[in-house]
Amino acid sequence: MELILGRESGNGRLHIVVNGKDCFYGTAGSVPRSVSRQHCKLVIGDDGNYTIVNLKPENVTYVNGVSVVSKRIVPKTDRVELGGERYLLPITVILKAVLGGAEPPKTYSIAHLQKVWDEYHDTKLEIQIKEKKTAAIRSVTGMFSMAAVACGFIPGISDFTVLRILLYAVGFLLAIYFFVKLYRSSSEMPRFMDALDKKFRKEYVCPNPDCNKFMGYVPYEELKNQTRCPSCKSKLVEKA
Ligand SMILES: [Zn+2]
Repeated sequence: MELILGRESGNGRLHIVVNGKDCFYGTAGSVPRSVSRQHCKLVIGDDGNYTIVNLKPENVTYVNGVSVVSKRIVPKTDRVELGGERYLLPITVILKAVLGGAEPPKTYSIAHLQKVWDEYHDTKLEIQIKEKKTAAIRSVTGMFSMAAVACGFIPGISDFTVLRILLYAVGFLLAIYFFVKLYRSSSEMPRFMDALDKKFRKEYVCPNPDCNKFMGYVPYEELKNQTRCPSCKSKLVEKA
């Protein structure tokens, strides 16, 4: 997070830009002219550290009396002054006003999401394997018909009409069996997959109860490298 600090044009109050929003502090003319419109920025790091950065070479930013380009500061104890007239930056007041006492991002464990991902992934894999197996077994149907046809060409066997009829019959029955099975699963499978997906999207979410945003179809192995929730910026760790 960044706070751009400078002098308000016209009124001469302290002008703070945070997340594209303008905030003003102090009374009119309280900020001297030696403070420029965009004088410096205060960067709040993910680890909760504060860094003050002088924005232009012609600006002067002091930390504890020393002119700096960029310096890590402790808002409560360090003294930051801007411009030749050394306007004292009321950092703690600014932080309180601008951030509105916003709580620092919380830390949540995502360890339980491993089970959610594994279950989803394994179930999907099982279904795929099952479908492949069914397809393999189905090819047997054709073999019976082919065998029946082949029998017609083999001398000696070609007379056994009963055998050929039997092979055709078995092939025919298997074809019906697989047709019924496929017909049933054609409506069941999409419904099952839909339910599986819904469950996954409901459970594979940010552990922050105020957020609960779906983490996406990201394998857990990749998710655990993600240090923050993209939505609420909560810190995500494997172990709390
Ligand atoms: Zn979140």
